[in-house]
Amino acid sequence: MADIIQLLPDHVANQIAAGEVVQRPASVVKELLENAIDAGSDHITLLVKDAGKTLIQVTDNGCGMSPTDARLSFERHATSKIKSAEDLFQLNTKGFRGEALASIAAIAQVTLKTRTSKLEVGTEIAISGSEVLHQEATVTPIGTTIAVKNLFYNIPARRNFLKSNAVETRHIIDEFHRVALSHPQVAFKMIHNGSDVFNLPVSNVRQRIVNIFGNKTNEKLVPVSEETEIVKVEGYVMKPSFARKSRGEQFFFVNDRFIKSTYLHHAVVNAFEGLIKDGTHPGYFLFLTLPPAAIDINIHPTKTEVKFEEEYAIYTMLRATIKHSLGQFSVAPVLDFNKDSGFETPYEYSKKAPQQPHVSVDRNFNPFHTDTATKAAPRFKKQEKGWESLYIGLNDDSASETLTTSEDWNTSKQITVESDPETGQLFPQEEETVQTTFQIQNKYIVSPIKSGLMVIHQHLAHQRVLYEELLKNITVQEATSQQLLFPIALELTKKQWAVLEPLEEALLHTGFIFEKQDGDGMAISGIPVGISESNVAPILQRLADDLLAEVPDAGFSLNDVLAKSLARSMAVRTGTPLNKEAREHLIHQLFACKEPSVSPENKPVLITLEGTDLDAKFM
Ligand code: ADP
Ligand code: MG
Repeated sequence: MADIIQLLPDHVANQIAAGEVVQRPASVVKELLENAIDAGSDHITLLVKDAGKTLIQVTDNGCGMSPTDARLSFERHATSKIKSAEDLFQLNTKGFRGEALASIAAIAQVTLKTRTSKLEVGTEIAISGSEVLHQEATVTPIGTTIAVKNLFYNIPARRNFLKSNAVETRHIIDEFHRVALSHPQVAFKMIHNGSDVFNLPVSNVRQRIVNIFGNKTNEKLVPVSEETEIVKVEGYVMKPSFARKSRGEQFFFVNDRFIKSTYLHHAVVNAFEGLIKDGTHPGYFLFLTLPPAAIDINIHPTKTEVKFEEEYAIYTMLRATIKHSLGQFSVAPVLDFNKDSGFETPYEYSKKAPQQPHVSVDRNFNPFHTDTATKAAPRFKKQEKGWESLYIGLNDDSASETLTTSEDWNTSKQITVESDPETGQLFPQEEETVQTTFQIQNKYIVSPIKSGLMVIHQHLAHQRVLYEELLKNITVQEATSQQLLFPIALELTKKQWAVLEPLEEALLHTGFIFEKQDGDGMAISGIPVGISESNVAPILQRLADDLLAEVPDAGFSLNDVLAKSLARSMAVRTGTPLNKEAREHLIHQLFACKEPSVSPENKPVLITLEGTDLDAKFM
């Protein structure tokens, strides 16, 4: 049989390779802008015609190229940015593969004009479909201008595949935003079909955001800032009240490079949970800085995903930091003292690497075997019921059960509630019934039961538990309150005051101690033990909003709304990993409730799948 393998002609191979880097005009914009940044420019102009289909031109005032470098820059794998594989781990430039210019030149008509400060004359190169048309000396300012014309002119199939001008322009603007946001120290201009779209002066991050997204953005921004040994986080989140139905401005940058991360996005959404309506999306501009060696940059050239070495620690710290910032934004300090940042930081992250929250747990520990209690980690030794240990209780108050709220999963604060001696009795045979549980989607707890399978919604279940406890505290007993060294000041609207004031007594029983200040201010001097300071503002604001939203009717009880609202704010969130003991503890508490099967808002807390239901599925 005849041999059938052939080598592809160069131009075909080039076009195929180019397809990986250049999907659409916006890809060219990204590569050219990044090259301009890498060249050390502080003034960059992007000129676009017909959504980039006719022309994309980037002019910079960076280092420029010598005649030889100019010619080499179009060779595949020609780069000035790395010399050896080791350099890959200390990368501070956007590019490093040396593929972009070669790819672009394979599928468009490109003209390059460039000059370094050392030379009086510059170089002009014209190249089309990878073929150099001419190279000559030219008069041109220091820096580089690259014009890319008629993208995909030699691959009609690709050109026809491009979307409408509106769509392609949107993509270009997205790329422009990403580069401009992460380099506020560089002035940018964008011109489309002859008119200025953006004119961004050198500024700081906040001004850059405002210059791009409009003056109204300024008041929406809540600053975020935290630094640990692993990562530095800076930037802004949008106030919860500005969350939008459409996915608005959501930007992560790692070492000034835009990235997408569903994992980190989840951390942000998690921090916002309870503060924004379902179906709305928080806005954020977050800049992470970490050593280049701690991220995997060995990724596809056009992909924006990044792998972090310490993903989980970054997640935890990001969530905590944003929660903290959100808690602070509406809270002005009452006393004018120099804030010690450590004082207000609810976690000891400032100088320490974040740690996984639920450590020091004895994996072999069975909470339902009392004789194993002594085997629990030493700090929990004194507790009789092993399952409390899970909730990272620090105080060993034997008269009370300690239970961490979701907000404090990482901060080791607890809510202290009077213990019901009967707790757990509704589960007389725990040894058999709650032996195996597992969590799915960080949302449901699944447990085999005699007749089949039970699925419990963790957030709703915890709401039920907290709701009954809070209601009991409000109506019967007084809960312990945590005295604050410096009262928290909270501004409320007249309407919010009108609904909160009548609840002063009830709130006191949940642990809130507050006083009305001049105007519509509120000074909070005591808070429930389970709540961290940064969560006070959002919890009370939400409570006021809930009360305002409630339509009074015959069955309307303020205490009920109060308990429901607090339970909702404090309950462990969907998305929170629960370990074995935490799951069992929750089940245990749930079945000690009067109405374990429905949430305070009448949603089902659990479902059961009978063996016969399963059988039916396998018919
Ligand atoms: P990479 O950016 O991965 O190195 P490119 O193909 O994008 O690869 O660029 C190849 C080389 O051309 C770069 O390494 C750089 O030396 C040079 N270069 C490209 N654009 C510019 C520019 N605007 N100013 C100065 N040098 C540039
Ligand atoms: Mg490049």
